[in-house]
Amino acid sequence: MQTELADFIRDTPQGREADAILRKCVHCGFCSATCPTYQLLGDELDSPRGRIYLIKQALEGAPVTASTRLHLDRCLTCRSCETTCPSGVQYGRLADIGRAVVEERVPRGPWEAAKRAALAFALPRRALFTALLRLGRLFRFLLPGLVPAPAPAAGAWPAPRHARRMLVLAGCVQPALAPRINAAAARVLDRAGVSLIEAPGAGCCGALRFHLDFQEQGRDDMRALIDAWWPTIERGEAEAIVVTASGCGATVKEYGHLLAHDPAYRDKAARISAMTRDLSEVVQPGAATGKGRIAFHSPCSLQHGQQINGKIESLLEQAGYELTPVPDAHLCCGSAGTYSILQPELSSELRSRKLEALQAARPVLIATANIGCLTHLQAQAQVPVHHWIELLDEEWQG
Ligand code: SF4
Ligand code: SF4
Repeated sequence: MQTELADFIRDTPQGREADAILRKCVHCGFCSATCPTYQLLGDELDSPRGRIYLIKQALEGAPVTASTRLHLDRCLTCRSCETTCPSGVQYGRLADIGRAVVEERVPRGPWEAAKRAALAFALPRRALFTALLRLGRLFRFLLPGLVPAPAPAAGAWPAPRHARRMLVLAGCVQPALAPRINAAAARVLDRAGVSLIEAPGAGCCGALRFHLDFQEQGRDDMRALIDAWWPTIERGEAEAIVVTASGCGATVKEYGHLLAHDPAYRDKAARISAMTRDLSEVVQPGAATGKGRIAFHSPCSLQHGQQINGKIESLLEQAGYELTPVPDAHLCCGSAGTYSILQPELSSELRSRKLEALQAARPVLIATANIGCLTHLQAQAQVPVHHWIELLDEEWQG
């Protein structure tokens, strides 16, 4: 694709990156076939190719309107299009650049701006989110389907006793929504000779605010997390950083890129990205004790963002579970961070389709790998939804 970026961005790092990505796109449209929003809406401007064209226009200085922003807002950033694209177009990175430009040029109305600001304020603050969730649960009967049910207790976290140690991301909303996930990961790894440790003060990975178009505030969260982890890394007390939520893992693995233009943090960010592993990359297969037919939902951040495919399915099968077939497994469930709150109709339709696919072969439960997908699916699923590590923890605890 030929480009002629406008003066305001041409010679900036963002402009150069966007230009290189745009030039790779040959406008073939293969990506549209796997785009969830194009499948739902059938509008070229809600396809990856259409959005790439909108971003190109914005970067070339053409007028941008509320309609431009709407088509970008409807994008889930699921990155299914990246997996499909034969030319290697990094749509996600281009969308980040395009959204920042459009956000600056087309201010949002007061209600929309207030909603986004409230989410950006409350979600990354673990204590505040936990308090709001507790309050919401008291009035859950008034808000059917909106407030997640109380989660099972975390259970014991093994004391660090092994020479091999790994840091684990505590995260922001996950400890309140599903405290058992990280504790289960700690127990499974402890049995395999690895102690999992949480660093004090390590909170949100920054993805929430970054993808709400508070990009600089999102980067502040990333820097704060690096600061919390750095003393442990510098002392050589952690051989890896483990992330149990694939959405957060996809972001932390990109810190090196996202902070590349920050001289104070770029080297630390690159080192942290290089050390980061999804939980499925460090858990080893164990005894085959599992039973039952289960469906696995592979989050977009795992299969498209981190390009990890088949690992968790294989761990579950080796543990004795039978995995049911899931049609259209490449499609998003509609959770996508705060998308389920900001685009409720599209999100709800995608969830209905995903649950139909997941439950078609009558599994006894659904396993997944990201807290956002887990709570989103759980709200409407007819069977329980768990993080996959919770299953292995239960199976292997003997
Ligand atoms: S992003 Fe890739 S698949 Fe989509 S139109 Fe461009 S080159 Fe084709
Ligand atoms: S990221 Fe997902 S929703 Fe957005 S254009 Fe690509 S495939 Fe479509």
